[in-house]
Amino acid sequence: MISDVGVAAAPGSSSAGLGVGAVGAAVEAVAGVAAMQEEVGIRREGPEPDPDEPPKKRVKMPEGESGKLEERLYSVLCCTVCLDLPKASVYQCTNGHLMCAGCFIHLLADSRLKEEQATCPNCRCEISKNLCCRNLAVEKAVSELPTECTFCLKQFPRSSLERHQKEECQDRVTQCKYKRIGCPWQGPFHELPAHESECSHPTKTGTELMGILGEMDQNHRRDMQLYNSIFSLLCYEKIGFTEVQFRPYRTDDFITRLYYETPRFTVLNQTWVLKARVNDSERNPNLSCKRTLSFQLILKSKVNSALECSFLLLKGPYDDVRIKPVIHHHSFSNDANETDYVPLPISDSVECNKLLAAKNINLRLFIFQVQK
Ligand SMILES: [Zn+2]
Ligand SMILES: [Zn+2]
Ligand SMILES: [Zn+2]
Ligand SMILES: [Zn+2]
Repeated sequence: MISDVGVAAAPGSSSAGLGVGAVGAAVEAVAGVAAMQEEVGIRREGPEPDPDEPPKKRVKMPEGESGKLEERLYSVLCCTVCLDLPKASVYQCTNGHLMCAGCFIHLLADSRLKEEQATCPNCRCEISKNLCCRNLAVEKAVSELPTECTFCLKQFPRSSLERHQKEECQDRVTQCKYKRIGCPWQGPFHELPAHESECSHPTKTGTELMGILGEMDQNHRRDMQLYNSIFSLLCYEKIGFTEVQFRPYRTDDFITRLYYETPRFTVLNQTWVLKARVNDSERNPNLSCKRTLSFQLILKSKVNSALECSFLLLKGPYDDVRIKPVIHHHSFSNDANETDYVPLPISDSVECNKLLAAKNINLRLFIFQVQK
């Protein structure tokens, strides 16, 4: 299961019961971690900002005593891999080294690609989803540390930044209320009333508005087309679906490559197999930050006549994979029994790493047989 990784979980969202003492406990906990790092001879560049880091990421601290404490906290609470303050879940190795969810998942995905046991970059102890646990106290402490609003550059606790940037910041980017009839204006919130009072869109003529609305309808129709074609496929006489489980394997090349294959399964009275590969079998996908998965559907049964099919992979009932539906078509015959590799429509490399870090990838496959 990968749902327990909770990359999207809000910091501290599951630590509501921790109460006021949590931050103090976290400080003590991380002080222990820092001491341990010194023991194993790890030098931590705490308050010194990374020169390669984009300036936006840096946390500017106010002068004085409290500033020093925040700087010290920043250096002990940050992820030991990317040295950034974790935005969501925080994991720790059995020796207490902290890793943000993104780095943790990335390490597990890399080890899968290289077929090695994943280890903590600090102490080399083994890490895995079973061996590492979340550190809610650190998550809660991080959410109390100040961070900068991207619009007005003022400091806020992380826990209230999202609300500030969405609802309160006077400099947040907003759009004109006449956007629905085509006004392209966007700008800081405090300039919105002035723009709206002189916006030309409400005074446009009906004919002008018809043109704008036509364009919008066209975009909407394009979105709807996909869903309508799924609905029409659902009217077919022969539809089959099943849960499929992609399991990791290695090629027996000199430099072995990771690929995935499902056990044989039966849909519409035929036997099938799905295969998947990483970065279209690029030689060293572990050296690349961009990660993709593509898959092909293979008909294993012999058929008397061509089998015209549409097929669709979706999130299964047991996994938390975000997949955008894409319909593919293929005419299966004994000579053309496999489709080309087509992209698995996941949102980005982060999502891909989540899948690689999981033991298996569980999805649901629909096959619709086109009737002649
Ligand atoms: Zn990290
Ligand atoms: Zn460690
Ligand atoms: Zn702001
Ligand atoms: Zn406007």
